[in-house]
Amino acid sequence: MQYGEDDLLALSGLQHYFFCKRQWALIHVEEQWVENVLTAEGRILHERVDNSKHIEYREGAIVERSIALKSAELGVYGVADVVEFFVSDSGIKLSNEPGLWMPRPVEYKRGKPKAGICDRAQLCGQAMCMEELYGVKIESGDLFYWQTRHRMPVMFDQDLRTAVRYACMDMHNILETGITPAVPDGVKCDNCSLVTVCVPKVQKKKSGKVGRYINEYIHGGENA
Ligand code: SF4
Repeated sequence: MQYGEDDLLALSGLQHYFFCKRQWALIHVEEQWVENVLTAEGRILHERVDNSKHIEYREGAIVERSIALKSAELGVYGVADVVEFFVSDSGIKLSNEPGLWMPRPVEYKRGKPKAGICDRAQLCGQAMCMEELYGVKIESGDLFYWQTRHRMPVMFDQDLRTAVRYACMDMHNILETGITPAVPDGVKCDNCSLVTVCVPKVQKKKSGKVGRYINEYIHGGENA
């Protein structure tokens, strides 16, 4: 399936989706957003990176910033913070540069590496957009964590690519139905800026009550 311009979703939403589907829907479907210290720091970091729109030459690489991205197949659009281009026989042509160059996305993050795949999935989504735009296969990219000053390489393997494809399809489905998902099991809400909008404890209680009611009504109180 190919999505039209009007149906594209923000690529940056992938990190919200993989952190918490409900958070993604509150931001991107219900358009609720509450800034806290962590989101403000993240936004300022991205503005700093995005504002320096120039080309640099560094250790065998050409570095470009704020590259516009789009994928009709995934149905997303966005901006890559930084893309490094390295000489490669299977790369692409760059204007004003001889030879062929392979893009490698680099995403800047405020904190430190996280347990889940949210950051890796967002970076992989960027690579998949570039693959569609440039007609190349991008094997890997990097996440740079500001707090630890640490650059972490990320391989774009089949599992990660499948997770990104599935997430994009699911985000489009959620948007179409307009139904905000319930609070996922095991999600960590402590640092979520939307905790006052989401009220996860109340939601959990409510879904518990509804679940019990349905169970009693349909199954006479027995486990289905
Ligand atoms: S408060 Fe928790 S459940 Fe609600 S959006 Fe945030 S992370 Fe998700």
